[in-house]
Amino acid sequence: ADTSNIISGALQLTTKRVEDVMTRIEDVYMLEINTVLDFETITEIMHQGYTRIPVYDGEKTNIINLLNTKELALIDPDDKTLVSTVCRFYDHRPLFVDHDVKLDAMLQAFLQAGSSHMAIVQKLHSPADRDPYFENLGVITLEDVIEEILQSEIVDE
Ligand code: ADP
Repeated sequence: ADTSNIISGALQLTTKRVEDVMTRIEDVYMLEINTVLDFETITEIMHQGYTRIPVYDGEKTNIINLLNTKELALIDPDDKTLVSTVCRFYDHRPLFVDHDVKLDAMLQAFLQAGSSHMAIVQKLHSPADRDPYFENLGVITLEDVIEEILQSEIVDE
């Protein structure tokens, strides 16, 4: 990307929202907490190619942890280890962010949070006839924000 693209991308961080650049929830690869990490599952995870996988309990709306795929390297498929066992050990709590948050604030939050460069994008619903609840709209990573600055797709290593 040339310099003017980068500058215009950086200026847009104050107006664009996380919802505008996130990966939509129906396209997010997730795992259920009770999944057995057998050979088939580990193979599927590796084929997906993602570094971070949201882990949900029961329903996909209930994301409780993140699995980092490099942590699967030490797992023996014959042990039939549960996703929950790995999650309990590493315990990566996801960052949650409101869908309306601007990208400059998101970037700052990622840099402050340190290692966990994925946030779950939520929208709060407050219906008159029931309790308020959060809807998960998608996920956003540091790469999604950087991509906006560079204004072009980053070629993954
Ligand atoms: P990775 O390191 O796994 O390649 P990045 O953080 O570089 O992930 O993000 C690359 C793109 O993939 C981003 O658009 C991000 O929103 C998306 N992404 C990351 N993890 C997942 C996932 N588990 N399911 C679907 N999309 C994902």
